[in-house]
Amino acid sequence: AKAMSDSAVCIFQSDMETTFQRKFKIEHELTVALSSNAFQLAFQPVVDTESLRVVMLEALIRWPSGETSCDPNEFIPIAEESKLINPLGRWIISQAMAQFARFKAGLGVDVGLSINLSPVQLRDKALVKFISATLEQENLWANALTFEITETALLENEPQIIKTLTEIHQLGCNIALDDFGTGYSSISHLLHFPIDIVKIDKSITSQVTESGKGAAIFRGLVRMLNTLCVEVVAEGVENHQQYLECKSVKVAKIQGYYFSSAVSESVIVNTVKSLNRE
Ligand code: C2E
Ligand code: CA
Ligand code: CA
Ligand code: CA
Repeated sequence: AKAMSDSAVCIFQSDMETTFQRKFKIEHELTVALSSNAFQLAFQPVVDTESLRVVMLEALIRWPSGETSCDPNEFIPIAEESKLINPLGRWIISQAMAQFARFKAGLGVDVGLSINLSPVQLRDKALVKFISATLEQENLWANALTFEITETALLENEPQIIKTLTEIHQLGCNIALDDFGTGYSSISHLLHFPIDIVKIDKSITSQVTESGKGAAIFRGLVRMLNTLCVEVVAEGVENHQQYLECKSVKVAKIQGYYFSSAVSESVIVNTVKSLNRE
């Protein structure tokens, strides 16, 4: 028994070490990647549930040449801890708007652009100025833009975060509450912050076709949000049945692999056109 517990401790310690080393390595590589322009953006369509037309594109970061193969669920939190998220986040904002400004005329339809913001970025006193300057530089209307935030940004009621959100909203941009249903899902957040859109997390959406409570939670959530007059987007729609469920409970917009995954600028125009043709 002694030997077993010793080896258990050993395994535990080496796990800790690798986790730490990996984080450290990624943090270092992120710094290099930022200065060598190694990040890319991909765009995922959001479609209108009734017309099935693409109405919005969400910009999602990609790190293709990362030595340590790494997805945003892993490296964004590391960037947040190391303060790299501020320069990285600004790169995402200016890059997303510049690319969008470049390809949007080719789409032939009016779509919006959605950009994810980390809570750390919302503490940046100069963020709103940066956003409005970028809008002006790229000749974009503020109302074409949506900024996605998560509930964690709202929990502490931080004055600077509230100020930033209010000012982004005053510019004319939309605010979306991302990953709804995973955290606190507090209704008071919807009443006290300028939230235009709620994105229901894919962990909830994935349950709509299961029998039992999952589907009931989804339906109840959507009904409640619809009566509050926030626009509902269901994330993670992966099949026809889920789409039909969303339609039957009047989810305004849907996003997911059933329509398209996030694609690069070079194919987004064709992706949007072929989705709109179907
Ligand atoms: P998110 O903002 O909730 O983005 C949605 C994630 O779900 C994306 O993963 C997307 O590719 C994936 N997804 C879309 N449709 C489906 C589907 O039908 N099924 C499944 N299983 N997944 C689907 P991705 O791109 O790996 O991003 C993961 C997370 O990393 C994002 O979650 C967001 O929290 C963060 N992230 C990504 N890009 C950015 C960014 O530019 N800035 C910030 N601050 N965070 C980002
Ligand atoms: Ca998002
Ligand atoms: Ca989400
Ligand atoms: Ca997420």
